[in-house]
Amino acid sequence: MSGAGSTEPAGVSGVGSTEAQESAAAVTISGLEKTFAKGGTTALVDIELELRPGEFVSLIGPSGCGKSTLLRIIGDLVEPTRGTVHVGGKTAHQARLDRDYGIVFQDAVLYDWRTVGRNIELPLEMLGWDRKRRQERMREMVELVELSGFEKNHPWQLSGGMQQRVSIARALSFSPPLLLMDEPFGALDEMTRERLNGELLRIWDGTASTIVFVTHSIAEAVFLSTRVVVMSPRPGRIQGIVDIDLPQPRTQATREQTRYAELIREVRRLLRLGGGLDVAEDHVEQTLIVAEEGL
Ligand code: ADP
Ligand code: MG
Repeated sequence: MSGAGSTEPAGVSGVGSTEAQESAAAVTISGLEKTFAKGGTTALVDIELELRPGEFVSLIGPSGCGKSTLLRIIGDLVEPTRGTVHVGGKTAHQARLDRDYGIVFQDAVLYDWRTVGRNIELPLEMLGWDRKRRQERMREMVELVELSGFEKNHPWQLSGGMQQRVSIARALSFSPPLLLMDEPFGALDEMTRERLNGELLRIWDGTASTIVFVTHSIAEAVFLSTRVVVMSPRPGRIQGIVDIDLPQPRTQATREQTRYAELIREVRRLLRLGGGLDVAEDHVEQTLIVAEEGL
């Protein structure tokens, strides 16, 4: 993966009147289809989806159902075969030019010649923040992802999990209007993952960014989201959308609620309906629920 595909810093918003942008949906996807020329795989069909500003939406579905492809189309990193994507009332392409996206991939995409601190500062540099403000923000982010003391290290001196935390800190540093996250916590241990889930929600609450989050963990999707989009196996379609009506803010206590378990079952039901129930079987919590249900 090249550096060009890494976290994109936000920009001063560009096209259209302020009024039009305020009333615009955060993301509107219409009639979307994707067939890759190479291999002829149809990855996505009939995708219709509208996200409201400030939503936290997770995409969940079996491996290969097109989650990453959909995220990349929203981020203007992959061209759709048919259909349109608008972000804040602009084309996805314009939104990318305006730096409206923060992107976190499965694997951290960092610049090896820059220190950890200067990787995190990169989007802020591009936005023209002065040095003092940049460094203050960088230190805040480093603390948040528990990497204080590593600011002057280079990415290649860190473990994979630590690198991913740098990439998350960088994507969150400028509070982008739209944050696209592709299984960002997949490689982290369970405790770090739960802590970063909490931190992500806290930051999201403070910024009102819209988040599109790809995960293969049903529990993670339900814990984090305002809505969970369940996809069918390839070619990916939207099998159903579950409103996650758990109270905010989500805390450890959320995981103990009956409603939380009910919503997890509902997501599982939709996955089963689509024939895509091969996700997250390694997740302890899921394994327990499977045992409970006698599946
Ligand atoms: P997911 O993220 O849900 O696991 P992907 O979006 O990565 O799924 O892939 C969906 C399907 O599209 C898979 O069959 C994959 O092999 C195919 N695919 C993804 N990217 C490409 C590409 N660049 N060229 C050809 N086929 C691709
Ligand atoms: Mg993927």
